[in-house]
Amino acid sequence: MGKVLSITEAVKALCNGQIVGLPTETVYGLGADASCESAVAEVFKAKNRPNFDPLIVHVPTLDAVREIAELSKAAEQLFLAFSPGPLTVVLPKKETIPDLVTSGHPTVAVRIPAHPVMLDVLHSSGLYIAAPSANPFGFTSPTSAQHVLDQLGAKISGVVDGGPCSVGIESTIVDMSVGIPKVLRLGGMALEQLEHVLGPLSTQLSSSNPNAPGMLSSHYNPGMPVQLFLDRDALLAALKMNGSKDIGVLYWGESIAHGSSFNLSEQCNDTEAASNLFKGLRLLGHSQVTQVYAHLLPESGLGRAVNDRLQRAANK
Ligand code: AMP
Ligand code: MG
Repeated sequence: MGKVLSITEAVKALCNGQIVGLPTETVYGLGADASCESAVAEVFKAKNRPNFDPLIVHVPTLDAVREIAELSKAAEQLFLAFSPGPLTVVLPKKETIPDLVTSGHPTVAVRIPAHPVMLDVLHSSGLYIAAPSANPFGFTSPTSAQHVLDQLGAKISGVVDGGPCSVGIESTIVDMSVGIPKVLRLGGMALEQLEHVLGPLSTQLSSSNPNAPGMLSSHYNPGMPVQLFLDRDALLAALKMNGSKDIGVLYWGESIAHGSSFNLSEQCNDTEAASNLFKGLRLLGHSQVTQVYAHLLPESGLGRAVNDRLQRAANK
């Protein structure tokens, strides 16, 4: 049965081929020694994750990136500009990483996380840690140690509690394995920031993208239908018309007087909204409501990534 682990206990478990929940600044991950196939297989099993959905490998330094992947000059620049941080880079993989981690792809997704606890675990263990988000496949990603225990406690030896995740949504993924950089997933690093370094970027986010097999159109399931609104007044009008008692509201901006509601950011701040998103989805999902109305954010900064998650949560 899962419990809260110290860093020392987690390192020991990982070195023994066990899987543990670990805090990162994006979301909590379910970590395994990336070089140990049986441990990686346990991650897929505990999450009920299909084998075609590859894992991100977490490393502590740029030198460690070089040990597992071919690092081009452009990719190195990207790491130097934004790592450690919420950015994952897809690169041609080296032999050190088993095919199971990359779902047979010749590329590996690599990230240098910024969370001090995760960095401590990486440095102390000397391992490369394969870690997808620590939630059952298709459900909302965890942003606290308790979320991990609630969803996966029975299947893992434990979780290290590193407090609430500061970024709160998953990393942005950029494929640098081919000539032209391509964004495969919007996330905690804003597109505008990346474009400062890489120039205008093409995005390829659909679920049919063979390079990001895990980007399924339906994800982040809060356990009930989610209806999206571009416009706040339209949301309020629908709420009024439909009796509203059974409806939860996920919104931003000026406070809305409504029983089951969650304000992502009163100041309309996209970074704050991202950090609150999964907590809000989870709270409404566990409340008495049978449906969620969600007000989409403006399409800029982390608003894009929040809207992407809301759209996936709304898809059946
Ligand atoms: P998660 O860690 O659960 O947020 O999911 C990691 C995501 O990274 C997967 O769903 C894939 O879309 C993406 N990913 C991991 N490895 C690769 C790779 N080699 N090529 C492209 N995308 C990848
Ligand atoms: Mg995930």
